[in-house]
Amino acid sequence: MRAAADLFFDVVSQIRMTRWSAGRVALVGDAAYAPSFLTGQGTSLALVGAYVLAGELAAHPDHAEAFSAYERVMRPYVTLNQALAGDGDTELFPATDQALQQRNAALRTLSTLPADRAHAEYSALTLPGYP
Ligand SMILES: Cc1cc2nc3c(=O)[nH]c(=O)nc-3n(C[C@H](O)[C@H](O)[C@H](O)COP(=O)(O)OP(=O)(O)OC[C@H]3O[C@@H](n4cnc5c(N)ncnc54)[C@H](O)[C@@H]3O)c2cc1C
Repeated sequence: MRAAADLFFDVVSQIRMTRWSAGRVALVGDAAYAPSFLTGQGTSLALVGAYVLAGELAAHPDHAEAFSAYERVMRPYVTLNQALAGDGDTELFPATDQALQQRNAALRTLSTLPADRAHAEYSALTLPGYP
């Protein structure tokens, strides 16, 4: 890191908006509700959000009603998935030298990939069918 000429450093953030639309503009995906890569759900939220927004726009002639319905359907799902980040994944990003050594030792002895954790939050939304 000390020798690198192109070191990139950033913080991990979430986007939490009080509302996702104003006038004729609606936000979708990371712009509205980036959950951070600590949740592994950013792409899912973006795709599901795009599907729901498109569906509600097709179902409501009034765009304001469509935007309200989009947010009503999506917000609980987004909130649950953003909460997966908790206080930060300390296993992945240790905060002390000792924790860092423990993580590195565990990774060096890893012989198989950890089992995929099936969080209930991932499937907490049943996609509505749209005409
Ligand atoms: C390190 C890292 C790891 C991740 N790991 C995962 C993971 O394991 N699983 C997962 O589901 N998600 C993961 N994500 C999150 C995921 O990448 C995002 O949540 C997802 O890409 C959001 O999609 P989006 O379409 O909303 O935004 P983006 O993918 O950011 O797309 C926005 C697009 O808009 C373009 N753009 C910006 N400004 C303008 C402009 N003014 N005019 C025209 N175009 C513009 C950008 O160039 C970009 O192409 C990770 C993210 C990071 C950073």
